[in-house]
This record gives sequence, structure tokens and C-alpha cells, in this order.
Amino acid sequence: MIRLHDTMTRKKRAFEPADPKRITMYVCGPTVYGRAHIGNARPAVVFDLLRRVLEHEYPDAEVTYARNVTDVDDKIIASAEQEGVDPSVVTERYERFYLDDMGALGVNPPTIAPHATQEIGPMIEMIERLVERGNAYEAEGHVLFSVPSDPDYGSLSRRDREAMVAGARVEVAPYKRDPADFVMWKPSDEGVIGWDSPWGRGRPGWHIECSAMIRAHLGETIDIHGGGLDLIFPHHENEIAQSRCAHGGAPLARYWVHNGFVDMGSEKMSKSLGNIVTPAELLEQGHKGETLRLALLSAHYRQPLAWTEDLIAQSKAVLDRWYRLLGDVEPFGEIAPFREALRDDLNTPRAIAVINEFLKGAEGPISDDYAFFQGGAQDMLRAAAASAKALGLLTMRKDEWFQGGGDAGDIEAKIAARAEAKKNRDFTTADRIRNELKAEGIVLEDTAAGTTWRKE
Ligand SMILES: [Zn+2]
Repeated sequence: MIRLHDTMTRKKRAFEPADPKRITMYVCGPTVYGRAHIGNARPAVVFDLLRRVLEHEYPDAEVTYARNVTDVDDKIIASAEQEGVDPSVVTERYERFYLDDMGALGVNPPTIAPHATQEIGPMIEMIERLVERGNAYEAEGHVLFSVPSDPDYGSLSRRDREAMVAGARVEVAPYKRDPADFVMWKPSDEGVIGWDSPWGRGRPGWHIECSAMIRAHLGETIDIHGGGLDLIFPHHENEIAQSRCAHGGAPLARYWVHNGFVDMGSEKMSKSLGNIVTPAELLEQGHKGETLRLALLSAHYRQPLAWTEDLIAQSKAVLDRWYRLLGDVEPFGEIAPFREALRDDLNTPRAIAVINEFLKGAEGPISDDYAFFQGGAQDMLRAAAASAKALGLLTMRKDEWFQGGGDAGDIEAKIAARAEAKKNRDFTTADRIRNELKAEGIVLEDTAAGTTWRKE
């Protein structure tokens, strides 16, 4: 049984799909006008793992995971105007980059990737329905959702009305009946991307995109809706209002799952603060995608994650050790407490710690701590390898992982000999090995998670 923290109830709840044969999950995807940064990569990696966990837990179910592509938006239009190209030139380029970058982090493509520009029909339909029901109104070529028409508005973010109005962060346009009302459709000027609608030529707002796509591809009520914490208000609140009012009160999602921010020092990583680090530049610097994936999974998904050089080095050291011990091992079985950690609200730090502890057991004498495990040291290694793979790691061949630093196998053998020497308190031998490697231009770095190496 999986347990998930549900933002709507602020509780960890047992996950029970509405239909155990068909599990539906929707995550708000990228607005494609720039390169994704590590903060954008976090939900992609977290929900990729959640999908894998669901597929493992429900082997007979079809897990349908939809992640949209926002390919019409004011920032896209501005960007295309600046370049003097059609918006599709910008969106196709950055969507390709996004898929490449996330692919490098081991993120599998979602089951469905609906594009806003391909789903205008369902959006218009939903807006029409909301107008009919008295939840929306037309004003000066815009169609707005009437927040006071929905008595349950605010249930996800639990904001009072004052905070909601302040938080909407929009100048109060003269055509709004209420300052909290939000745009579902807006007019497009001549020469700007637009579609014909009952309210004239225009384009959709962002919130209606997700509501309409969820309805079109997954149904009125889905099992899991995911995204970053910053989407709770106003984006998810608005999605909920639109969908619930259009569907006679049916809830949009049964579980709301939100990931925390990635921090740079004391600030949230964000494009507007100009403090972003992208997977593309980290990969360019020679870091491997799996190192970045492990770094992103090293904190619990709901906690903030501080992105530092040390985090990357630690993650590489863990993977060096895993590849050293498990790179040639045929995966089989699994470590029960590892799976339990994932079932418990995707507790990845604990899952990773279980593998690391387990490897200590496999390397040394088998203690009572591993009494739950039936099998010898080799079986333990095989189970550890299977567990690491379940995180979307250990996907490379051992020689591939260690390539790019001279005779990697040789270096690894020397690191193992040095570790052995240190364990036996033979520091003369340990220092000699370190110095021999240094003479060859290989620098060893000892971290809490093990020893890693780099070329000088
Ligand atoms: Zn959304």
C-alpha cells in the first residue's frame, strides 16, 4: 500500500486508485520558451519515480501519466517576436531541449504529452459550459472565471479572501467584476497567435489549459495531480475551480502531490531571480545525468533541496561506490525496507540509505540487521542492484560509468585497495596508493559517502 501526502487534506493518506485497472496522474509540464533549470527538473524526476512506483505496485494496471506542454503563452510570444520567428520555432526548439535534458536525467516520456495549441477545442467547450452555468462571463473580448460564483474556491491553498486577492498578483483590469477573477480567454491582436472562438479571435489562459486537457485525456476526476509547491496558488486553485464547476461538483483530483523548491544558498532557484543552474550546463561540465538524478532524489520531495557543489560530489561518490560494487551484478529481487521507504510517501532519502547500509552488510560480516533478508552476500548485491535500478539509476555499464579518467578499472581497484588498507589501519599503504595516483594526475576525494576521484 502506497501512502502519499495529500495537499488538500494536509495529511498522509493511503493511496487507493478509483479504478485499480487504470491509474491516472497529471503533472503540469513546461512552458517551452527557455532551457529548463534544476528547479524545473525536480518535479520531472520526482513524478517519474512516482510513476515507476505506481507501475511496480499495480503491475496489472494501466498507469496513464499525462504531462502537458504549454506552447502558447505571453512569454513565448514575446520571445518569438524578439527573434522574429513564428512561436512554433521557439516552442519546438525548447521542447526538444526539455526532452533531451530530462532524458539525460533518466526521466521517461509521459504516456501522453498534450500540447495547448492542439487542444483549443476542448478549452473553448469548457469555457462555454462555465459561461452557461454562470461561473464565467465575457468582458471586452476576455472571458473570466467568476471567483465569487464558487463558494469552495480556496480549498487547496486555504487562503482567506484578502490573501487570495493580494496573491493573485494581477493589476485589477477594469473588465474584472471581482479582483480575484481570472482570465480563461483573452483577445489576440492582429499578427499575434490566436484562434477563432465565440468571443472573437483570441488565445487561452494557462489555467484552462490543464483543466481542459485533464478532462479530454484522463476524465473528470483523476487519481493524482502533481506539480511544484509554487503552483498551489493560484494555478491549481484555479484548475480546481474551473473543473469542479464545469463538472457539477466532481473533484478534479483525489490526491494532490506537490514537490518543494530547489534552493541556491538562501534563495529559491528561479529564472526571475537569475540564479539558475541548468542540467544542460552541468552535463556540459562532465557531470553525468545519473549523478544529477540521485542529487535530486537525495532529499525528500516535499522538503527544500539545497543545490550545492558538495551535493553533486556526494552523489557522484555514492554512484561510484554503487557501480564499483554493483556494476557487474545481475539485478534480482529487492530489499524489502527499500520498497517500504518508497511506499511511504516516496521517502527517497531513506530508500537510498537502505541501499548504502545494505552494501555495508554485503561487504562485511552479515549482522542481525539484515536478518530480514534470506540469502548470502551475492544475493544481497543482486537485491541492492535491483533496488538502485528501481530508482532509475545504475542504467550504464560499469566501464561506461568510469570512462573518461584514464584506466578507470585500475583506479577503482586502487581505491578499493586503499579503503581496505585504511580499514586495517595500514595508513602507510593507504597514503602510498593516494600518492601513486596523484603522480598519475588522479586526485582522490574522500566524502562521507565514500571516495571519488577526478583528473587533476
Ligand atoms: Zn496545470
